[in-house]
Amino acid sequence: MTPQSVLKEFFGYDRFRDGQEELIRQILSGGDVLGIMPTGAGKSICYQVPAMLMTGITVVVSPLISLMQDQVAVLREAGIPAACLHSNLGQEAYFRTLDAVRSGEIRLLYAAPERLLTDAFLSLTDSVAVAMVAVDEAHCLSQWGQDFRPSYLQITEFLAELPRRPVVAAFTATATQTVRDDIRHLLGLRQPLELVTGFDRKNLRWIVERPSKRYDALLRILKRNRGKSGIVYCISRRLTDEVCSKLCADGFRAERYHAGLSAEARTRAQEAFLHDDAEIIVATNAFGMGIDKSNVSFVVHYNMPKSMEAYYQEAGRAGRDGMPAECILLYSPQDIRTNTFLIENSDSENEMLSEEARKNVRQKDFDRLHKMVQYCNLTDCLRHFILGYFGEKAPTYCGNCGCCLAETETVDATVPAQKILSCVYRVGQRGRHCGSKMLCDILQGKDTKQLKEAGYQTLSTYGLLADVSRMHLEHMVSILISRGYLITDTGQYATLSLTPKANAVLRGQETVQMALPQRDLKQTQRERRLAALPDYGVDEELFQALRHVREKLAAREFVPAYIIFSDATLRDMCSKRPSNEEEMLAISGVGKYKMDKYGEAFLAALEEYAASAGSPRGHFPSGNGSQAAQ
Ligand code: ADP
Ligand code: ZN
Repeated sequence: MTPQSVLKEFFGYDRFRDGQEELIRQILSGGDVLGIMPTGAGKSICYQVPAMLMTGITVVVSPLISLMQDQVAVLREAGIPAACLHSNLGQEAYFRTLDAVRSGEIRLLYAAPERLLTDAFLSLTDSVAVAMVAVDEAHCLSQWGQDFRPSYLQITEFLAELPRRPVVAAFTATATQTVRDDIRHLLGLRQPLELVTGFDRKNLRWIVERPSKRYDALLRILKRNRGKSGIVYCISRRLTDEVCSKLCADGFRAERYHAGLSAEARTRAQEAFLHDDAEIIVATNAFGMGIDKSNVSFVVHYNMPKSMEAYYQEAGRAGRDGMPAECILLYSPQDIRTNTFLIENSDSENEMLSEEARKNVRQKDFDRLHKMVQYCNLTDCLRHFILGYFGEKAPTYCGNCGCCLAETETVDATVPAQKILSCVYRVGQRGRHCGSKMLCDILQGKDTKQLKEAGYQTLSTYGLLADVSRMHLEHMVSILISRGYLITDTGQYATLSLTPKANAVLRGQETVQMALPQRDLKQTQRERRLAALPDYGVDEELFQALRHVREKLAAREFVPAYIIFSDATLRDMCSKRPSNEEEMLAISGVGKYKMDKYGEAFLAALEEYAASAGSPRGHFPSGNGSQAAQ
């Protein structure tokens, strides 16, 4: 078999995506690889395909049990013998798995890093040849990454224990140069092929909102996404519970997920979400790594996360099936304070580091937080910023982010910018600092108690921008933050200070152009614009009928629906309307094994639909198709 035929036969795909083929070829020629690809790009295929072609097993190291279970389920459904070893496995199942590996039945063995150096595991690798060790989420190796896991360092020792050094293939979604160096060095990669594919996820729409009432903003988002699956990330367990309860009371099928719940409750929530029983999961960042659910249509961040790395990874769980999806961040400056607190109290995880190194780690965390704040204050292309952050050049207009979609007008805002900056300067002269809300209050000449107490009415900048709308003023402050004229401190009030860059503007040596919203679009108009995601262009009724078939099969097989076929596969069926086995095999995502197992059921549904096409709408025999989506 060739890589191409494995891809087609087992996974049902016709073409490799960007980077996959090169990585696979290198692995098959016995070389190490380091693959850096965004979430959803298809990293797993890069080791799963060669695993089928090599002599000996492939050990896949993965950080989370849910990740392993999910992957194993996907592989088994595709007809690939895979298994996992982790601490939740009962003793009997554990030894049964070991036996299966020994007898040569298993091609891919997933293991938690803690397992690798156990006697049972090491003796296993004495009796079967390990052809490849694939390291998933490889950034976990580096203390400079956003997700350091000391247990990952055991991989190195494990490699040294093996009788023959296997091919080592490392994969991660995000890696700065330092993290990449660490991965290469710590794993001892030998002249690896290092491949970075584009980070852009074109089907994702990026949006930042700065709502005064977050919950109301969330409700608006959920309303325009009714019937679709989504994740709502909250910064704390308490908030997760609170938001989830409110949503349930408001009639949404929501589940909660955080580390404070019992393992059982977490599994239940996760299963309900994977099986589409719950449309929304409200969770802390404990949820998601390894959640492969392909039809997540939106990811809302109820709070600002700690870094762009974390954000891109979490938000990237939307739209894995390539369908249009949206990623919305609801920002409030209070989030800065919470994140600062989290950074300052994160030392327990870094106990093994020296004082010096710990300080360094913390400084890096703060730098990342600052970038995140910049993102939240952007008023020009969000995608441009994201891609730039990950070291990629991108056009300054993408047409599919909140900023590009906003109706704006570019104006020369040099004078108001000078007024804003000099107000920060004047406040500073009094030995004080203020946050953006107070700053806007001063500039607008507001008559508040706090303002009076601080004596700010006597500032020369008091009321200087009273004629500018509040929305425009807030926008301008955001722009000055995002362009680095102002910097937010990470303390309690997210106070603002001038940066050296501000001097040129204050002295009139530099002008400032700003794209400001043309007029205050009414909320309903805004919603309508955002709701207009690109059309799928397929027969919705047929799609729902196929979903219904899939649900029945999923219930029969005890697997999540998307493991049977992804939404993208069903939509491909809708547009190509296969009528026999051969045509069915041409559908993206239909491999031989799945064709044999499920092809018939879908062909029957398609045929039934075609036969009823002449009859009036609503008389389709499989009936409640459209209800299945609710
Ligand atoms: P990652 O681990 O990089 O986040 P996955 O390996 O989970 O991404 O792949 C994301 C999705 O893309 C999966 O549903 C996978 O089946 C699909 N996929 C991967 N490679 C291809 C391909 N060559 N053609 C079509 N779909 C693919
Ligand atoms: Zn854009």
